[in-house]
Amino acid sequence: MKTSMSMLSSPAPRFPLLFPGEPPFRAPYLVPLRPAGERGRVVTAATSGERRKAGYVSVMERALAAEEEYRRARAEVLRKGVELEGYAIEGISIGGHETCVIVPSLNVAFDIGRCPARAVHQDFLFITHAHLDHIGGLPMYVATRGLYSLKPPTIFLPPCIKEDVEKLFDVHRSMSQTELKLEIVPLDVGETYEIRNDLVVRPFKTHHVIPSQGYVIYSVRNKLKKQFAHLKGPKIKKLKLSGVQITDTVLSPEVAFTGDTTSDFILEPRNADALRAKVLITEVSLSFFPWLIDHEHATFLDEKNYIEHVRQHGHMHLLEIMEHAQWFRNKSILLTNFSSRYKIEDIRQPISRLQPKLLPKVVALTEGFKSTYT
Ligand SMILES: [Zn+2]
Repeated sequence: MKTSMSMLSSPAPRFPLLFPGEPPFRAPYLVPLRPAGERGRVVTAATSGERRKAGYVSVMERALAAEEEYRRARAEVLRKGVELEGYAIEGISIGGHETCVIVPSLNVAFDIGRCPARAVHQDFLFITHAHLDHIGGLPMYVATRGLYSLKPPTIFLPPCIKEDVEKLFDVHRSMSQTELKLEIVPLDVGETYEIRNDLVVRPFKTHHVIPSQGYVIYSVRNKLKKQFAHLKGPKIKKLKLSGVQITDTVLSPEVAFTGDTTSDFILEPRNADALRAKVLITEVSLSFFPWLIDHEHATFLDEKNYIEHVRQHGHMHLLEIMEHAQWFRNKSILLTNFSSRYKIEDIRQPISRLQPKLLPKVVALTEGFKSTYT
């Protein structure tokens, strides 16, 4: 890691490139905030001439502009959440430690590895599978909502874990002598549940080392049937009053969340909605094997072996996302579940090598990861 001294002694300190092709810029802390020799002095109109004043202002303007640029770069490195297709998405996802992704405008959280504070305020929780880094925070989520007198949450989960989760809460109730109110909804792949009059959810099949499923949240709207499209308002109103069904219900996949899965979920024909949701939140494994850094020295066998290793652990490698790029119809893809051994730059570098068709819509959730520059 660079020390602050080594950064200061560098002739042109550089910050990570935020986007491929973006020019680097100089660190503004090397730009003097006041002209040399004037630090600590109060400069007034009475003690400085107009020319000197103009010079001072221009230096200040340059310094402030550089400062603003620096602030923006720092904020980008340290940003907590992302905004994708009109959805603010936040949370944390560190492989093996904790995953909880929150979409406040939908009032939902996906998985609950350790229950971050913001998750407590979401009424609907979707559990993908029972690994502790995805479900470990469940009792705290329910208990903390009780502490704040929030209404009992609705928790969706794969039907096969319902009984165990109920037993878990029985044990916690017994140990803590606390009521722990919640509603459990075992929801199977293909079933639909209305969470708001304009939102429904459907689980979809994922492939992990234990039973698992993802979820698609759909917006619901009523669209006038085609055969009535030519009619004017009063006639449509008359038809409606007469009891004729004049609209079709249209479901649009908005946000899909896979949790842990191999790339096999991409090839499931019934998962088309997850792959055409406006936002797909999925997991990915990266690697820093020499062959990934230096393709010229990589062998086909190296790649195959490493991808197979990732598959056997129920996960998906970045190279598989590249391989299946044509199936992703999503407008944005949020990648999650990176290993805790990475720095933010270690995550962004391999992602920046995605093919041009995919790259503009892919973002990494880096909350909880440190930058090499912090
Ligand atoms: Zn897992």
